[in-house]
Amino acid sequence: MFFGNTCHDDRLPQRGEVPEPGTRQGVRASIFAATQCNRAGTMPSLLCLNRADTYMRGIMAHTPLMPIPGQIDPVPVAREITPREDGRVDLIGLPRQRIAELFAQAGLDAKQAKLRSRQVYHWLYHRGVSDFEAMTDIAKTMRPWLAERFVIGRPEIVEAQHSTDGTRKWLLRTADGHDFEMVFIPDADRGTLCVSSQVGCTLNCRFCHTGTMKLVRNLTPGEIVGQVMLARDALGEWPKGRMDVADEEDEAAYTADGRLLTNIVMMGMGEPLYNFDNVRDALKLVMDGDGLALSKRRITLSTSGVVPMMERCGEEIGVNLAVSLHAVTKEVRDEIVPLNRKFGIEDLLEACAAYPGASNARRITFEYVMLKDRNDSDDDARELVRLIRKYKLPAKVNLIPFNPWPGAPYECSSPERIRRFSDIVFEAGISAPVRTPRGRDIDAACGQLKTAAEKKSRSELDRLYAEKQASLG
Ligand code: SF4
Repeated sequence: MFFGNTCHDDRLPQRGEVPEPGTRQGVRASIFAATQCNRAGTMPSLLCLNRADTYMRGIMAHTPLMPIPGQIDPVPVAREITPREDGRVDLIGLPRQRIAELFAQAGLDAKQAKLRSRQVYHWLYHRGVSDFEAMTDIAKTMRPWLAERFVIGRPEIVEAQHSTDGTRKWLLRTADGHDFEMVFIPDADRGTLCVSSQVGCTLNCRFCHTGTMKLVRNLTPGEIVGQVMLARDALGEWPKGRMDVADEEDEAAYTADGRLLTNIVMMGMGEPLYNFDNVRDALKLVMDGDGLALSKRRITLSTSGVVPMMERCGEEIGVNLAVSLHAVTKEVRDEIVPLNRKFGIEDLLEACAAYPGASNARRITFEYVMLKDRNDSDDDARELVRLIRKYKLPAKVNLIPFNPWPGAPYECSSPERIRRFSDIVFEAGISAPVRTPRGRDIDAACGQLKTAAEKKSRSELDRLYAEKQASLG
């Protein structure tokens, strides 16, 4: 075409060079790249374009990702976590190997670091202690040494609500002052903790109250696993006894079946697959047999459909998958879950069919919020069945009556409509239970407690917090 084979400007970086932005060479290349070397009517040569391309790759390598404006193509920006002023390191969220490395860096020899990390890890994740002084098999002289260098963090409880149906909801705060939520839902045969992965969310699902909030930042592994630990604190679910002298009676009672907190769903604030590394690291701690020891079969990660991350989720975490489907046509899902404009229903269902570990014994859950006159017709139900069959998905469908929040753009479908929808799916041989709404007397819809708290004055929150602390004695 128009391309020559020489570059107009030999001062530009040569093929394969990556100039530093801000250097003279970089500035020249930048101007060059911006103008496409379209000087005096000449067209860029192949070499010109190569150099411009090389430069732009250099820029990309040196520039942090920025969010793409708009709803449908969010790029999460992991904001810096403000380090603790006292310089101590929070051990919660760290695997045993990392704790050993930190102990070695702080001055212990390799053998001591390994031994102490094993003991501390057990106290942290199996016993749930939050004070080094309680680690009774660690020498008394060693405990202050640990306390000077490390902390055992928990998210701060800003507000706690208790529904008449037993549902409990907490508004939590990170050490650098950002609020997020956690919900515990007890049932006859299980107790499920709904855990958040981000403060706010980028995805703007229209039925979701959290979707009205901006993403503030990703939660760290410590802040994610810290929710599970905090729930166990609140439920009084840590075994007593000591690592070296176990309380046998208590150990016997402390079985998975005897626990209140039996299941975890990554279904709180945020899209977990947009905070993949931290969610994976936190869930590995939750699943570790030497620690919180919750089976991967009891953990479910819910995604709105971040298709490119789903395979890694199955391979690297291996937990159950839930998908926020909520609609079966492009038009309606584009509206309800705007991420659908980027990863459409067909791509999503293909990724579900390929999800590692999915089988009839470990079905993929499709969450479907029932919205009056929007996604709840007989045709919608039939199309849902058709799609599940088309992709041969080992699936179950959870029908969720919409829990409205002030200003919500939807209403909940009628009980008769929900029942009819459920019957159609069920008659096709697919399980489609209707979820009983929980915690309707408290702000239990995702994100509601945070918003309600923001309406309260800071002094009122401080007063509630002080009362809470006093009541804990
Ligand atoms: S449903 Fe989940 S992904 Fe969608 S806006 Fe709410 S928190 Fe974000």
